[in-house]
This record gives sequence, C-alpha cells and structure tokens, in this order.
Amino acid sequence: MTTPTREPLIQRRTVAVVGTGSVGRAAAYAMFVRRSASEILLVDANEASARGEAMDLMHAQALVGRVDVRAVPVDAIGAAQVVVITAGRSQKPGQTRLDLLAANAEIIREVVSVVDRAAPDAVLLLATNPVDVLTQIAAAESKRPDGRVIGTGTTLDSARLRALVGETYEVSPRSVHAYILGEHGDSQVPIWSQAAIGGAKLAAGPVLGRVLDDATRASLASRARDAARDIIACKGRTDSAIGVVIAHLVEAILGDEHGVHPLSVPLRGEYGIEGVAASIPCVVGRSGIAARMTPDLDAGEIAALRRSADVLGQALRALG
Ligand code: NAD
Repeated sequence: MTTPTREPLIQRRTVAVVGTGSVGRAAAYAMFVRRSASEILLVDANEASARGEAMDLMHAQALVGRVDVRAVPVDAIGAAQVVVITAGRSQKPGQTRLDLLAANAEIIREVVSVVDRAAPDAVLLLATNPVDVLTQIAAAESKRPDGRVIGTGTTLDSARLRALVGETYEVSPRSVHAYILGEHGDSQVPIWSQAAIGGAKLAAGPVLGRVLDDATRASLASRARDAARDIIACKGRTDSAIGVVIAHLVEAILGDEHGVHPLSVPLRGEYGIEGVAASIPCVVGRSGIAARMTPDLDAGEIAALRRSADVLGQALRALG
C-alpha cells in the first residue's frame, strides 16, 4: 500500500469572505456546494462564528469533495484572488438600504484598508448595503487598480425580475434576458426596452401570446423592487439568493468567464453620470471588470437612471 501524497493543486482558486453573518454564510455555503473555489477563507469580527461555520462546512466534504474551508485572521487572506465583503449591519423591518450608510461606511473603510494590506491584488466584491455608495467609497479608499472594486449591484434585482418574468411567460428565468440597472435600492430602473425571451423583445409586441402592458410592467417592477422588504418582513433578513449571486460572480472572476452582469462600478460619464457607483452591464473576468457596456436605452430609462444616480449622489454628499 502506498501513502497518498497531497500534491499541491495546480492553481488554487482562493476566495475570502469578510463578514460571515447571514449573507457571508449563505455565500460560503453556495460556493462550497457549487465548488466555486478550491479554498474558502472565512473572516469575521466574531472569530468563533467564522470558525464554527468552517468546521460545519468541512464535515460535508465527504459528499461535496475537497474544498478547504478555514477561518483565518484578516491578515492571512493573501492567497485570495477574490475577497467578498459582506461585513456590516443589515436592514431591519422598515429601514431602507440607505439608512445603513453611516454605520456601514465606517466598517467598509476599515475593512478595505486592512484588505488592501493583506490581499492587494485581489478583486474586491462588495455586497454590504447600501452597496452602490459603499462601492464608490471602497473604490476611492482602495489602492488597487481600476476595475478591481465591484459591487454586486443589481445582479440580485435582475435575477428577481427574470424569475418574475419567467413565471409570467411560463419559461425558464434562464431564458429571460432582462436587466435592472442603477441603484440596488428603491430608485432602481428596470430596462423594459431591452427585455427579451428567445430574442423576442417583450416591449415590441406579443411574446408567447402575452402582451407586456403597463399594469404588468408596474406589477413586476414593484415586486422586484420590494422583494427585500417583503422577505425581511417574513424572515428578518435576505441571504439565500444573494449567496447564490455571490457564488456565480466569484466563479465568473476565478474562471475568467467574461460573463455579462449588472454590477455596481464608479461611473465615468456612462449615460451622462459620474461621481457615483451604480449598476450597468459589465464584462467580468480574472482582473475584475474587463469592459463596461452602455446598451441603447429609451429616453425614459435614461432619465430614470440619472434620477437614481442623483439619489446616490445625495446620500454620498450627506455622508460628507
Ligand atoms: P449580519 O448582521 O448577519 O452579519 C454581518 C457580519 O459582519 C457579522 O457576523 C459581524 O460580526 C461582521 N462584521 C461586522 N464588522 C466587521 C468587521 N470590521 N470585520 C469583519 N466582520 C465584521 O448581516 P447580514 O444579513 O449577513 O448582511 C450583511 C450585509 O449584506 C448587510 O449590509 C446587508 O444589507 C447586505 N445585503 C446585501 C445584499 C445585496 O444584494 N447586495 C443582499 C442582502 C444583504
């Protein structure tokens, strides 16, 4: 009998999660089960909670396969190619995401400065809310190259909209192409002019025998926009779907996939907006944002995007 030697993996795909509360745990769980990475490093101000989560997941390796999950201090995340940031307060019933800004801005500034020292080359993927304003702050604070500070933005909102459109048209949400852009929050903008199933634009006429009338648009848009509020009213938090979103985005980065996702990035004149981060479709790969896209929108959508940016700009200025 020979003793197996553990060969070093040819290329370890390492992700760190800073903040292992509900969202960080859901992300770690999704990444573990999907094997999004070969190594998942967990960091939390409450070290015992990160350690417990790592142990808990490691016991499922017999079923999932070899994925190393370890709780580490933040200065030990140097191997991470992606650092997911989910540290910070979450919404309580009745609060908006922007209500979290003052408390979470302080946490994000602190986390970004330690992560800059510990993993200067990693791509930062922020989920902490209000994610757009915090992405702008993190990008300004961080010394890493352009395109390496990304907010999850409206990826979750767009997934919610696709699920609702899929239900309405009785097709798989994976076959629905639809984006919500702008703020991950109340001023978000559903882009109906480009929404399509199987290449058929929903705004152009009947698709699969259904017409996208104003009442249907308004109902789908408000259900996507208010989803977090509704879920928080029922279970006190949202975590499962954002966990899956984070796993997909981490795979896009680690796998250099060049998939297109609506992500929050500091805007530089796109649709006439600058000085705030908000979601536009972005091509995502190993170095973070590989390209930004500005698809044709109708005049109403562009105006709504600018209003959304104004809301974010006001929140940023109010913070000083
Ligand atoms: P939570 O309270 O369950 O967990 C937050 C964790 O952050 C805690 O474990 C806490 O110990 C840790 N933490 C705080 N400061 C830290 C620091 N300096 N370093 C390390 N860890 C620190 O909250 P949650 O439900 O996991 O939500 C986390 C954030 O994610 C919230 O801001 C929430 O609004 C946001 N969120 C975003 C989306 C999205 O689509 N972007 C979706 C859902 C929730």
